[in-house]
Amino acid sequence: MTVPVKTSKLIKGTTGDWEVVIGLEVHAQVTSNSKLFSGASTAFGGEPNSHVSLVDAAMPGMLPVINGECVRQAVRTGLGLNAKINRRSVFDRKNYFYPDLPQGYQISQYKSPIVGEGEIVVELEGGKSATVGIERLHLEQDAGKSLHDQRPDVSFVDLNRSGVALMEIVSKPDIRDADQAKAYVTKLRSILRYLGTCDGDMEKGNLRADVNVSVRKPGGPLGTRCEIKNMNSINFIGQAIEYEARRQVEIIEDGGAIEQETRLFDPNKGETRSMRTKEEAHDYRYFPDPDLLPLEFSEAYVEELKAGLPELPDPKKARFMSELGLSPYDAGVLVAERESADFYETVLENLAHQVRDGKLAANWVINELFGRLNKEGRDISASPVSAPQLAAIVDLIGEGTISGKIAKDLFEIVWTGGGDPRALVEARGMKQVTDLSAIEKAVDDIISANPDKVAQVKAKPAAIQWFVGQVMKSSGGKANPQAVNDLLKSKLGI
Ligand code: ADP
Ligand code: MG
Repeated sequence: MTVPVKTSKLIKGTTGDWEVVIGLEVHAQVTSNSKLFSGASTAFGGEPNSHVSLVDAAMPGMLPVINGECVRQAVRTGLGLNAKINRRSVFDRKNYFYPDLPQGYQISQYKSPIVGEGEIVVELEGGKSATVGIERLHLEQDAGKSLHDQRPDVSFVDLNRSGVALMEIVSKPDIRDADQAKAYVTKLRSILRYLGTCDGDMEKGNLRADVNVSVRKPGGPLGTRCEIKNMNSINFIGQAIEYEARRQVEIIEDGGAIEQETRLFDPNKGETRSMRTKEEAHDYRYFPDPDLLPLEFSEAYVEELKAGLPELPDPKKARFMSELGLSPYDAGVLVAERESADFYETVLENLAHQVRDGKLAANWVINELFGRLNKEGRDISASPVSAPQLAAIVDLIGEGTISGKIAKDLFEIVWTGGGDPRALVEARGMKQVTDLSAIEKAVDDIISANPDKVAQVKAKPAAIQWFVGQVMKSSGGKANPQAVNDLLKSKLGI
């Protein structure tokens, strides 16, 4: 059973302990070919102002037309967050002036968002998990980008992003420390990537978070919060929270008060600094956009999208545990990213049926493959060993053709030079020796050459490992370890 998060780390101040309260507003770029209200491309990295329609540039008389795909993606995301889908929602104008916002307002949703309350299960340390509440999800337009570093005397504006669809996903103030906040963003990003509704690429700014932080005495009323804007790295989110919470504790303990404001994190200094005082909703003069009808869905529309959702990380983890007998840890590692889960499932599909062993396959994917990929800083999509190749290696172990030790050599050969594992075993004579007479000869040789050790092993049976090692060595690692053990035990009489 999953429970709401609890405070795990308190901050020690001079007046006692402080609890940190955190809520996140995540902006996730919707995966779609065109923008929220225009047909211009959403492709990343185009020449400045090459993906701009007359609507995005806010030419007079242009009218927005809702992109059905963006709406579907938002509803699918809501369903993936176990959230209430609002069958009627409204687009509002959020008015403000900024050079990268040619309309003079952002089309967003205010009082009636497309998605209401939901929740996310986050993985915490020590294998624990807890739920974080989702307040709402709404659709809105992204703004353009001001470029101040091209020339010393003027600034430029690139409108390629202008009008791209964003989902703003707002959490409840349920998060209690930096690690929980990092776990929350990690899990949210994973769910979005499973759904294919946002690619989660934080470096490109396709997923960014505004982090609200306040402190209070444990169990007391909520304190005044500061909002740290536009964080696009999970590690920086953690650092910013740690810094900001301590800053607030020090101010309060020095007799000061927290002013609600918007702050920026400086990754070089590891500090947050003030950007502006917090604006209120009325500063934006929100009103329903007269150019757009409310969005209305039938129940059948929502049901159809629900039926088409992929298996998400939590149910997949549960299934890996119940159907394949994986440990919670292994299952958790495999489902953490959609690509890893896909890879593992492709390995399973490629295993020969009679020896299908999900646990052995999981060990090889996690320990050998992921271990090696991590060491070389490679992504799974760039793995030199493919899922069918890894399946062949696992099959060769499972059916007893090669030992686990030889399999590591084989993995190395496939990693560096590729090839069909089964053919490689054949060509290089790597097969495990199960021929009992050959093993027996090796066992006899070792026993007769080492009478002193034979005497020792009678007194201390654990010393049999020395004999096993010698026989394996003399066979070049190819003797079947079980057969070696059995023969040694019977010959040594232990
Ligand atoms: P706004 O739209 O003005 O930023 P919201 O009420 O929508 O305000 O809250 C924004 C975010 O701030 C939410 O994620 C919420 O959980 C979080 N939040 C609200 N109150 C607090 C608080 N006292 N401390 C920390 N986070 C808070
Ligand atoms: Mg806000």
